Amino acid sequence: MTPLEAEILRIIAVDGPMPVAQFMALCLSHPVHGYYQTRDPLGARGDFITAPEISQMFGELVGVWTVVMWRQMGSPDPMRLVELGPGRGTLMADALRAARVAPAFGAAVTVDLVETGRVLRQRQQTALSGLGVRLVWHPEFAAVPDAPLIAVANEFLDALPVHQAVRARDGWHERMVGRGPDGGLAMALHPEPLAGFESLLPPAVRAAPLGAVYEWRSDRPIAELAARVVRCGGAALVFDYGHAESGLGDTLQAIGGHRFAGVLERPGEVDLTAHVDFAAVGRVAREAGARVWGPTPQGTFLRRLGIETRAARLKAASPARAAEIDAALDRLAGAGPGRMGELFKVIAITDPRLPAPPGFGSIHDAA
Ligand code: SAH
Repeated sequence: MTPLEAEILRIIAVDGPMPVAQFMALCLSHPVHGYYQTRDPLGARGDFITAPEISQMFGELVGVWTVVMWRQMGSPDPMRLVELGPGRGTLMADALRAARVAPAFGAAVTVDLVETGRVLRQRQQTALSGLGVRLVWHPEFAAVPDAPLIAVANEFLDALPVHQAVRARDGWHERMVGRGPDGGLAMALHPEPLAGFESLLPPAVRAAPLGAVYEWRSDRPIAELAARVVRCGGAALVFDYGHAESGLGDTLQAIGGHRFAGVLERPGEVDLTAHVDFAAVGRVAREAGARVWGPTPQGTFLRRLGIETRAARLKAASPARAAEIDAALDRLAGAGPGRMGELFKVIAITDPRLPAPPGFGSIHDAA
Protein backbone atom coordinates (compact mmCIF):
# COMPACT_ATOMS: atom_id res chain seq x y z
CA MET A 1 0.00 0.00 0.00
CA THR A 2 1.39 3.44 -0.91
CA PRO A 3 1.54 6.10 1.87
CA LEU A 4 -1.07 8.11 -0.03
CA GLU A 5 -3.47 5.15 -0.21
CA ALA A 6 -3.23 4.81 3.58
CA GLU A 7 -3.97 8.51 3.96
CA ILE A 8 -6.94 8.39 1.55
CA LEU A 9 -8.38 5.42 3.46
CA ARG A 10 -8.08 7.46 6.69
CA ILE A 11 -9.96 10.38 5.08
CA ILE A 12 -12.68 7.98 3.86
CA ALA A 13 -12.97 6.45 7.35
CA VAL A 14 -13.78 9.91 8.75
CA ASP A 15 -15.69 11.64 5.93
CA GLY A 16 -17.02 8.74 3.87
CA PRO A 17 -16.40 8.14 0.14
CA MET A 18 -14.99 11.06 -1.88
CA PRO A 19 -15.80 12.18 -5.44
CA VAL A 20 -13.43 10.85 -8.13
CA ALA A 21 -12.30 14.47 -8.64
CA GLN A 22 -11.13 14.75 -5.04
CA PHE A 23 -9.32 11.43 -5.33
CA MET A 24 -7.60 12.62 -8.52
CA ALA A 25 -6.61 15.94 -6.91
CA LEU A 26 -5.04 14.10 -3.96
CA CYS A 27 -3.21 11.64 -6.22
CA LEU A 28 -1.67 14.36 -8.37
CA SER A 29 -1.25 17.31 -6.02
CA HIS A 30 -1.14 16.09 -2.40
CA PRO A 31 1.53 18.37 -0.85
CA VAL A 32 3.71 15.46 0.32
CA HIS A 33 2.77 12.36 -1.67
CA GLY A 34 1.20 13.83 -4.84
CA TYR A 35 2.46 12.39 -8.14
CA TYR A 36 3.61 15.77 -9.49
CA GLN A 37 5.10 16.82 -6.16
CA THR A 38 7.58 14.01 -5.93
CA ARG A 39 8.97 13.43 -9.40
CA ASP A 40 9.70 14.45 -12.97
CA PRO A 41 7.37 12.10 -14.85
CA LEU A 42 8.41 13.15 -18.36
CA GLY A 43 10.67 11.64 -20.97
CA ALA A 44 11.71 8.26 -22.27
CA ARG A 45 12.52 6.90 -18.82
CA GLY A 46 9.54 8.56 -17.14
CA ASP A 47 5.86 7.75 -17.41
CA PHE A 48 4.96 9.66 -20.57
CA ILE A 49 6.35 11.98 -23.25
CA THR A 50 4.87 15.26 -24.42
CA ALA A 51 5.05 17.31 -27.64
CA PRO A 52 7.81 19.71 -26.50
CA GLU A 53 9.89 16.72 -25.37
CA ILE A 54 9.52 15.08 -28.79
CA SER A 55 11.02 17.97 -30.74
CA GLN A 56 12.24 21.55 -30.38
CA MET A 57 9.96 22.41 -33.34
CA PHE A 58 6.89 22.43 -31.10
CA GLY A 59 8.16 25.08 -28.67
CA GLU A 60 9.74 27.10 -31.47
CA LEU A 61 6.43 27.40 -33.33
CA VAL A 62 4.69 28.38 -30.09
CA GLY A 63 7.38 31.06 -29.69
CA VAL A 64 6.71 32.40 -33.19
CA TRP A 65 2.95 32.38 -32.50
CA THR A 66 3.58 34.33 -29.31
CA VAL A 67 5.62 37.05 -31.02
CA VAL A 68 2.96 37.48 -33.74
CA MET A 69 0.24 37.77 -31.07
CA TRP A 70 2.30 40.26 -29.08
CA ARG A 71 2.62 42.45 -32.18
CA GLN A 72 -1.14 42.13 -32.85
CA MET A 73 -1.66 43.32 -29.27
CA GLY A 74 0.34 46.49 -30.07
CA SER A 75 3.68 45.24 -28.66
CA PRO A 76 2.85 45.97 -24.99
CA ASP A 77 5.74 46.52 -22.59
CA PRO A 78 5.65 45.25 -19.86
CA MET A 79 4.08 41.99 -20.85
CA ARG A 80 3.64 38.63 -19.06
CA LEU A 81 4.33 35.34 -20.80
CA VAL A 82 2.60 32.71 -18.66
CA GLU A 83 2.93 28.94 -18.85
CA LEU A 84 0.57 26.66 -16.95
CA GLY A 85 2.18 23.34 -15.99
CA PRO A 86 5.55 23.92 -17.68
CA GLY A 87 6.93 20.40 -17.08
CA ARG A 88 10.69 20.45 -17.69
CA GLY A 89 10.60 23.99 -19.09
CA THR A 90 11.42 22.68 -22.57
CA LEU A 91 8.52 24.35 -24.40
CA MET A 92 9.31 27.72 -22.80
CA ALA A 93 13.06 27.43 -23.49
CA ASP A 94 12.46 26.62 -27.17
CA ALA A 95 9.81 29.38 -27.45
CA LEU A 96 12.11 32.00 -25.94
CA ARG A 97 14.97 31.00 -28.25
CA ALA A 98 12.69 31.34 -31.30
CA ALA A 99 11.38 34.68 -29.97
CA ARG A 100 14.88 36.17 -30.14
CA VAL A 101 13.97 37.26 -33.69
CA ALA A 102 12.17 40.09 -31.85
CA PRO A 103 14.58 41.51 -29.23
CA ALA A 104 11.96 44.04 -28.06
CA PHE A 105 9.73 41.12 -27.09
CA GLY A 106 12.46 39.61 -24.90
CA ALA A 107 13.00 43.00 -23.25
CA ALA A 108 9.28 43.46 -22.53
CA VAL A 109 8.53 40.05 -21.17
CA THR A 110 8.43 38.52 -17.69
CA VAL A 111 7.93 34.75 -17.72
CA ASP A 112 5.43 33.45 -15.16
CA LEU A 113 5.53 29.72 -14.47
CA VAL A 114 2.48 28.22 -12.77
CA GLU A 115 3.72 25.00 -11.20
CA THR A 116 2.88 23.07 -8.05
CA GLY A 117 5.57 20.37 -8.30
CA ARG A 118 8.85 21.08 -6.50
CA VAL A 119 10.95 18.65 -8.57
CA LEU A 120 9.65 20.13 -11.83
CA ARG A 121 10.21 23.71 -10.60
CA GLN A 122 13.86 22.81 -10.16
CA ARG A 123 14.05 21.42 -13.68
CA GLN A 124 12.36 24.54 -15.07
CA GLN A 125 14.90 26.72 -13.28
CA THR A 126 17.76 24.75 -14.85
CA ALA A 127 16.23 24.92 -18.33
CA LEU A 128 15.40 28.63 -18.25
CA SER A 129 17.82 30.47 -15.98
CA GLY A 130 20.45 31.06 -18.68
CA LEU A 131 18.08 32.69 -21.16
CA GLY A 132 18.25 36.25 -19.87
CA VAL A 133 14.57 36.71 -19.04
CA ARG A 134 12.89 37.44 -15.71
CA LEU A 135 11.36 34.28 -14.25
CA VAL A 136 8.69 34.11 -11.53
CA TRP A 137 7.01 30.97 -10.15
CA HIS A 138 3.44 30.82 -8.85
CA PRO A 139 1.40 28.06 -7.24
CA GLU A 140 -1.70 29.10 -9.20
CA PHE A 141 -2.68 31.32 -12.11
CA ALA A 142 -4.56 33.82 -9.90
CA ALA A 143 -1.19 34.87 -8.41
CA VAL A 144 0.16 36.13 -11.78
CA PRO A 145 0.18 39.98 -11.65
CA ASP A 146 -2.26 41.89 -13.87
CA ALA A 147 -0.73 42.98 -17.21
CA PRO A 148 -1.22 42.21 -20.89
CA LEU A 149 -0.47 38.51 -21.19
CA ILE A 150 -0.02 35.53 -23.42
CA ALA A 151 -0.61 32.22 -21.66
CA VAL A 152 0.38 28.80 -22.94
CA ALA A 153 -0.57 25.36 -21.63
CA ASN A 154 0.30 21.93 -23.00
CA GLU A 155 -1.11 18.81 -21.35
CA PHE A 156 -2.18 20.85 -18.33
CA LEU A 157 -5.97 20.63 -18.45
CA ASP A 158 -5.98 16.82 -18.71
CA ALA A 159 -4.29 16.71 -15.30
CA LEU A 160 -6.97 18.84 -13.62
CA PRO A 161 -9.44 16.85 -11.50
CA VAL A 162 -12.42 15.39 -13.33
CA HIS A 163 -15.83 14.51 -11.89
CA GLN A 164 -17.76 11.51 -13.15
CA ALA A 165 -21.46 10.72 -12.95
CA VAL A 166 -23.26 7.55 -14.01
CA ARG A 167 -26.76 7.47 -15.48
CA ALA A 168 -29.24 5.40 -13.44
CA ARG A 169 -33.05 5.06 -13.53
CA ASP A 170 -33.58 7.83 -11.00
CA GLY A 171 -31.04 10.26 -12.49
CA TRP A 172 -27.25 10.79 -12.46
CA HIS A 173 -25.17 9.58 -9.53
CA GLU A 174 -21.69 10.92 -8.85
CA ARG A 175 -18.92 8.32 -8.91
CA MET A 176 -17.09 8.09 -5.61
CA VAL A 177 -13.97 6.41 -4.27
CA GLY A 178 -14.66 4.49 -1.07
CA ARG A 179 -13.47 1.48 0.89
CA GLY A 180 -14.21 -1.91 -0.67
CA PRO A 181 -15.07 -5.19 1.13
CA ASP A 182 -11.38 -6.20 1.12
CA GLY A 183 -10.41 -2.99 2.94
CA GLY A 184 -8.78 -1.41 -0.16
CA LEU A 185 -10.05 1.41 -2.37
CA ALA A 186 -13.12 0.75 -4.51
CA MET A 187 -15.37 2.74 -6.85
CA ALA A 188 -18.95 3.30 -5.73
CA LEU A 189 -21.87 5.52 -6.69
CA HIS A 190 -23.26 8.22 -4.43
CA PRO A 191 -26.61 6.88 -3.15
CA GLU A 192 -28.50 10.10 -3.99
CA PRO A 193 -28.90 11.38 -7.56
CA LEU A 194 -27.32 14.78 -8.33
CA ALA A 195 -30.07 17.38 -7.92
CA GLY A 196 -30.91 19.43 -11.02
CA PHE A 197 -28.03 17.84 -12.94
CA GLU A 198 -29.97 16.99 -16.11
CA SER A 199 -30.63 20.64 -16.94
CA LEU A 200 -26.89 21.43 -16.78
CA LEU A 201 -25.96 18.76 -19.30
CA PRO A 202 -25.17 19.56 -22.94
CA PRO A 203 -28.24 18.63 -25.04
CA ALA A 204 -26.40 15.84 -26.92
CA VAL A 205 -25.74 14.03 -23.65
CA ARG A 206 -29.19 14.26 -22.02
CA ALA A 207 -30.63 11.16 -23.67
CA ALA A 208 -27.84 8.96 -22.27
CA PRO A 209 -28.54 5.23 -21.80
CA LEU A 210 -28.44 3.58 -18.36
CA GLY A 211 -24.87 3.08 -17.16
CA ALA A 212 -23.46 5.90 -19.36
CA VAL A 213 -20.67 7.98 -17.80
CA TYR A 214 -20.46 11.77 -18.11
CA GLU A 215 -17.31 13.68 -17.09
CA TRP A 216 -16.86 17.34 -16.23
CA ARG A 217 -14.31 19.64 -14.67
CA SER A 218 -14.57 22.79 -12.62
CA ASP A 219 -15.13 25.88 -14.83
CA ARG A 220 -12.85 27.96 -12.64
CA PRO A 221 -9.40 27.60 -14.28
CA ILE A 222 -10.69 28.49 -17.77
CA ALA A 223 -13.07 31.16 -16.45
CA GLU A 224 -10.17 32.86 -14.64
CA LEU A 225 -7.87 32.65 -17.64
CA ALA A 226 -10.49 33.99 -20.05
CA ALA A 227 -11.57 36.79 -17.71
CA ARG A 228 -7.93 37.89 -17.37
CA VAL A 229 -7.39 37.88 -21.14
CA VAL A 230 -10.45 40.11 -21.55
CA ARG A 231 -9.59 42.44 -18.65
CA CYS A 232 -5.85 42.87 -19.31
CA GLY A 233 -5.65 42.12 -23.03
CA GLY A 234 -3.98 39.13 -24.57
CA ALA A 235 -4.50 35.50 -25.44
CA ALA A 236 -4.20 31.93 -24.22
CA LEU A 237 -3.12 28.97 -26.33
CA VAL A 238 -4.15 25.60 -24.92
CA PHE A 239 -3.10 22.20 -26.30
CA ASP A 240 -4.38 18.90 -25.02
CA TYR A 241 -5.91 15.62 -26.08
CA GLY A 242 -9.63 15.26 -26.00
CA HIS A 243 -12.86 15.69 -27.91
CA ALA A 244 -14.22 18.69 -29.80
CA GLU A 245 -17.83 17.96 -28.76
CA SER A 246 -19.11 17.08 -25.28
CA GLY A 247 -19.81 13.37 -25.12
CA LEU A 248 -20.25 10.31 -22.95
CA GLY A 249 -17.61 7.87 -21.77
CA ASP A 250 -15.17 7.10 -19.00
CA THR A 251 -11.79 8.48 -20.14
CA LEU A 252 -10.06 8.51 -16.78
CA GLN A 253 -6.81 6.58 -17.11
CA ALA A 254 -3.71 5.82 -15.12
CA ILE A 255 -0.25 5.61 -16.69
CA GLY A 256 2.97 4.44 -15.08
CA GLY A 257 6.20 3.67 -16.94
CA HIS A 258 4.54 4.25 -20.38
CA ARG A 259 1.93 1.56 -19.53
CA PHE A 260 -1.71 1.69 -18.48
CA ALA A 261 -2.44 0.94 -14.83
CA GLY A 262 -5.65 0.65 -12.80
CA VAL A 263 -7.04 4.04 -11.72
CA LEU A 264 -7.09 3.00 -8.06
CA GLU A 265 -3.73 1.20 -8.18
CA ARG A 266 -0.72 2.70 -6.39
CA PRO A 267 -2.20 6.17 -5.65
CA GLY A 268 0.45 8.91 -5.96
CA GLU A 269 2.77 6.65 -7.98
CA VAL A 270 0.95 6.73 -11.33
CA ASP A 271 -0.27 9.61 -13.47
CA LEU A 272 -4.03 10.15 -13.72
CA THR A 273 -5.54 12.00 -16.69
CA ALA A 274 -8.84 12.34 -18.50
CA HIS A 275 -9.72 13.70 -21.93
CA VAL A 276 -10.42 17.41 -22.23
CA ASP A 277 -13.93 18.45 -23.30
CA PHE A 278 -13.03 21.31 -25.66
CA ALA A 279 -16.69 22.25 -26.16
CA ALA A 280 -16.91 22.91 -22.41
CA VAL A 281 -13.64 24.89 -22.46
CA GLY A 282 -14.97 27.05 -25.31
CA ARG A 283 -18.32 27.62 -23.61
CA VAL A 284 -16.72 28.75 -20.34
CA ALA A 285 -14.29 31.09 -22.13
CA ARG A 286 -17.10 32.67 -24.19
CA GLU A 287 -19.23 33.14 -21.08
CA ALA A 288 -16.30 35.10 -19.60
CA GLY A 289 -16.41 37.44 -22.63
CA ALA A 290 -13.46 36.05 -24.57
CA ARG A 291 -13.33 35.01 -28.21
CA VAL A 292 -12.62 31.35 -28.91
CA TRP A 293 -10.73 29.94 -31.90
CA GLY A 294 -10.77 26.24 -32.61
CA PRO A 295 -10.51 23.57 -31.36
CA THR A 296 -8.24 22.85 -34.30
CA PRO A 297 -6.37 19.56 -34.68
CA GLN A 298 -2.77 19.98 -33.53
CA GLY A 299 -1.45 18.71 -36.89
CA THR A 300 -3.44 21.32 -38.85
CA PHE A 301 -2.31 24.08 -36.52
CA LEU A 302 1.38 23.13 -36.68
CA ARG A 303 1.28 22.83 -40.48
CA ARG A 304 -0.34 26.27 -40.77
CA LEU A 305 2.49 27.67 -38.64
CA GLY A 306 5.03 26.08 -40.98
CA ILE A 307 6.29 22.97 -39.19
CA GLU A 308 7.15 21.33 -42.52
CA THR A 309 9.39 24.23 -43.54
CA ARG A 310 10.99 24.23 -40.11
CA ALA A 311 11.67 20.48 -40.35
CA ALA A 312 13.25 20.92 -43.80
CA ARG A 313 15.53 23.66 -42.44
CA LEU A 314 16.61 21.53 -39.49
CA LYS A 315 17.31 18.60 -41.81
CA ALA A 316 19.40 20.79 -44.11
CA ALA A 317 21.39 22.02 -41.10
CA SER A 318 21.99 18.52 -39.72
CA PRO A 319 21.50 15.81 -42.38
CA ALA A 320 22.57 13.08 -39.94
CA ARG A 321 19.42 13.78 -37.93
CA ALA A 322 17.04 13.69 -40.91
CA ALA A 323 15.29 10.44 -39.95
CA GLU A 324 14.82 11.60 -36.36
CA ILE A 325 13.36 14.96 -37.49
CA ASP A 326 10.96 13.24 -39.93
CA ALA A 327 9.83 10.88 -37.15
CA ALA A 328 9.22 13.81 -34.80
CA LEU A 329 7.26 15.67 -37.49
CA ASP A 330 5.10 12.58 -38.06
CA ARG A 331 4.49 12.08 -34.35
CA LEU A 332 3.56 15.72 -33.67
CA ALA A 333 1.47 16.43 -36.77
CA GLY A 334 0.53 13.04 -38.27
CA ALA A 335 -2.79 11.22 -37.87
CA GLY A 336 -3.51 7.75 -36.51
CA PRO A 337 -2.35 5.60 -33.59
CA GLY A 338 0.68 6.83 -31.66
CA ARG A 339 0.51 10.24 -33.35
CA MET A 340 -0.68 13.51 -31.88
CA GLY A 341 -1.86 15.43 -34.95
CA GLU A 342 -5.55 14.53 -34.66
CA LEU A 343 -6.13 13.36 -31.11
CA PHE A 344 -4.51 16.51 -29.76
CA LYS A 345 -6.28 19.78 -30.32
CA VAL A 346 -5.51 23.42 -29.77
CA ILE A 347 -7.82 26.21 -28.78
CA ALA A 348 -7.06 29.93 -28.55
CA ILE A 349 -8.88 32.17 -26.09
CA THR A 350 -8.40 35.81 -27.03
CA ASP A 351 -9.32 39.36 -26.18
CA PRO A 352 -12.25 39.95 -28.59
CA ARG A 353 -10.60 43.17 -29.84
CA LEU A 354 -7.73 41.20 -31.42
CA PRO A 355 -7.69 39.91 -35.01
CA ALA A 356 -7.54 36.19 -35.85
CA PRO A 357 -4.55 34.48 -34.22
CA PRO A 358 -2.09 32.67 -36.51
CA GLY A 359 -2.92 29.01 -37.16
CA PHE A 360 -6.69 29.37 -36.82
CA GLY A 361 -8.64 29.91 -40.04
CA SER A 362 -11.56 32.29 -39.59
CA ILE A 363 -13.99 29.45 -40.30
CA HIS A 364 -12.82 27.86 -37.06
CA ASP A 365 -14.08 30.77 -35.02
CA ALA A 366 -17.07 29.01 -33.51
CA ALA A 367 -18.17 32.03 -31.44
N1 SAH B 1 3.53 21.16 -20.25
C1 SAH B 1 4.55 20.16 -19.98
C2 SAH B 1 4.19 19.21 -18.82
C3 SAH B 1 2.88 18.50 -18.89
S1 SAH B 1 2.62 17.49 -17.44
C4 SAH B 1 4.88 19.41 -21.24
O1 SAH B 1 4.15 19.56 -22.21
O2 SAH B 1 5.87 18.67 -21.25
C5 SAH B 1 1.53 18.50 -16.47
C6 SAH B 1 2.17 19.70 -15.83
O3 SAH B 1 1.18 20.40 -15.07
C7 SAH B 1 3.29 19.41 -14.84
O4 SAH B 1 4.23 20.45 -14.93
C8 SAH B 1 2.55 19.43 -13.51
O5 SAH B 1 3.38 19.59 -12.39
C9 SAH B 1 1.62 20.57 -13.72
N2 SAH B 1 0.40 20.59 -12.90
C10 SAH B 1 -0.50 19.59 -12.76
N3 SAH B 1 -1.53 19.99 -11.98
C11 SAH B 1 -1.28 21.28 -11.65
C12 SAH B 1 -1.98 22.26 -10.89
N4 SAH B 1 -3.13 21.98 -10.31
N5 SAH B 1 -1.43 23.49 -10.78
C13 SAH B 1 -0.25 23.78 -11.37
N6 SAH B 1 0.45 22.89 -12.11
C14 SAH B 1 -0.05 21.67 -12.24
